Amino acid sequence: MRDARYDILFQPQKIGPLTAKNRFYQVPHCNGAGYRDPSAAAAMRGIKAEGGWGVIFTEQTEMHHSSEITPFIELRLWEDQDVPAIAKMAEAMKTHGGLAGIQLAYSGINGPNFYTKEVPMAVSPGPIRTFTNDPVQARGLDKSDIRDLRRWFVNAAKRSKTAGFDLICLYGAHGFGIFQHFLSRATNQRSDEYGGSLENRSRFVREVFSDMRDAVGDTMALTLRVSLDEQIGKLGFSNAELRDFIAMNGDLPDLWDLAQGTWEDCSGPSRFKDEAAQETLVQGIRALTNRPVVGVGRFTSPDVMAKMIRQGALDFIGCARPSIADPFLPKKIEEGRIEDIRECIGCNICVTGDMTQSISRCTQNPTFMEEWRKGWHPEKMNAKGPSTNVLIVGSGPAGLEAARALSLRGYDVALAEASTTLGGRVAKERLLPGLSAWGRVADYRTYQISQRPNVETYFDSCLTAENILDFGFQHVAIATGALWRADGVARMHVEPIPNSGLPVYTPDDLMAGRLPKGRVTVFDDDHYYMGGVLAELLAQHGCAVTLVTPSAYVSDWTLNTLEQAAIHRRLVAAGVKIVLNTVISSLTNQGVSTACVYTGHASHIDAEAVVMVASRIAQDQLYHDLKAREADWADAGILSVKVIGDACAPGPIAWATYAGHRFARELDMPDIGDVLPFRREVTALQD
Ligand code: ADP
Ligand code: SF4
Repeated sequence: MRDARYDILFQPQKIGPLTAKNRFYQVPHCNGAGYRDPSAAAAMRGIKAEGGWGVIFTEQTEMHHSSEITPFIELRLWEDQDVPAIAKMAEAMKTHGGLAGIQLAYSGINGPNFYTKEVPMAVSPGPIRTFTNDPVQARGLDKSDIRDLRRWFVNAAKRSKTAGFDLICLYGAHGFGIFQHFLSRATNQRSDEYGGSLENRSRFVREVFSDMRDAVGDTMALTLRVSLDEQIGKLGFSNAELRDFIAMNGDLPDLWDLAQGTWEDCSGPSRFKDEAAQETLVQGIRALTNRPVVGVGRFTSPDVMAKMIRQGALDFIGCARPSIADPFLPKKIEEGRIEDIRECIGCNICVTGDMTQSISRCTQNPTFMEEWRKGWHPEKMNAKGPSTNVLIVGSGPAGLEAARALSLRGYDVALAEASTTLGGRVAKERLLPGLSAWGRVADYRTYQISQRPNVETYFDSCLTAENILDFGFQHVAIATGALWRADGVARMHVEPIPNSGLPVYTPDDLMAGRLPKGRVTVFDDDHYYMGGVLAELLAQHGCAVTLVTPSAYVSDWTLNTLEQAAIHRRLVAAGVKIVLNTVISSLTNQGVSTACVYTGHASHIDAEAVVMVASRIAQDQLYHDLKAREADWADAGILSVKVIGDACAPGPIAWATYAGHRFARELDMPDIGDVLPFRREVTALQD
């Protein structure tokens, strides 16, 4: 069944004293659950095991209480009490012959220690480096601290072994992790034998490997995660210096785990980075060591994966996001089901779960992090209930996912779409600059429902309540989406912005090809990607664009998707004028009157048109029309009507796929009343 071209991906591989069953390597990735939701995190890793990954890692695990990154929720291995929670993860990872890995992190200059209140320690003293520029400095490690730190790594290694892990990854990438801090002259200004030459800066990592090999190396494999290039100029740990380091220490770890730059560099969104973007930085490194090498690159194509192995760039295919979007990626390749792969779209919504300390979601895989909380499996649906058919109105991400998932449960599904295209908002947004990969949300589902005998799709079908009452479906899901409003009402304005004659465009206008010309102001009070993307689109079309936002950042919320800096850079390069901390107060035929959000200081921007990226209005009229006819439902054979996705409450695409999936799971299920709709773990009280 498997295509012979991909056989190479399934060759067992040695890592130190162990053998991985194939080359699919789930590199460490966060999930927003960590120590707060250990069973949810364990079940998520267990699903990866079932999906065929040869090696599966935890997220970063804080290995000692003197370095922690509160408010971010990762794992902790500070004392024996922490072992049972992570042992549960190791056990889940090993259920299908996968190897279980734990990533040990000592955050040093990145750990503000807000929770433990310990004084942070770093390779050299200096301000803590966090996303929030916390007003805390670290003291430098002295020689006895370094001895302590070595012992703590050994203690953590022993606890990892007790917990049942097979591999330990020492974290020294992304600017996080003490090993990188020692290696890089940007964070290592020591003048003793741990600073200065590369030989000296490598001393600490060599010592820790030696200590840990003595303690656990007979049975466990030890890996090192480093960045391919710190990308911060002359002082940083560059690709050339990394190569020197690997050439000097080729046999140090049992495997080299090559990440890239900062986390933003490594988890580059599809808007800014293509699949296999690190290829040139990786090429040739394998020749410097006889230990296997793993690298990442948002790999979703088995052809690209096989090429990376065949051309000798990598031994293992490292995946974080592709394994989130489709935990069954290896299994689908093995079974020759390439077209069933749910490809990551590179939107980085998964990252936002960590950044907001909530719990992660995935645009493509609505079951991510719900494996334990709700018992949702990415490939299996719950059994069908007593009723037989469902009408879904609207084929955006909510409607498409509902149709796909309901058809798997065995319902007869009719999907009615007003237009001639499936995909709703995704069909339009995929045409915007940099967002073409987002079309995979529609492509995956369109193909899946095309393979199901129990889904009928109807185009050019703009349904009314009357139509629906005539049809007589038992269940109706209204997934009719949302439209952008033109009057500016969002966060800064709760009433329409006064306008005495300036042409106003909405994102829907631009996506439909109705573009303004000349001098255009984009007002962004939405703060996610749309304002920045449209400014880029207008600049591409020759407009003189000014982007005005009440926030201190362009596309503010994309700080959570690791895109904000890249968006700002791209807009500057496109010639967009950026006006921050500013609100539009009124519009005239001369342009835009603005006010500083802090002082109210008034100003004016000449403009021939404004694009309002404000908020969206749910298109729920059909739902309300049907609700008004509730008395007629029984005669029409209707048992339930539900509004889902953006038509219920507009949000990011991931919210819509989740809503569609949830609708499909819960149809015909017993009413749970006031009971919490998911499982959670509650802190145990100590005596
Ligand atoms: P969501 O993100 O919630 O899935 P979208 O806005 O992406 O919502 O998609 C909504 C889809 O519903 C659009 O493709 C739109 O054409 C379709 N639609 C809206 N109203 C109707 C209607 N009355 N009948 C059929 N389809 C509709
Ligand atoms: Fe990929 Fe987006 Fe899912 Fe993350 S949330 S795994 S980037 S599709």
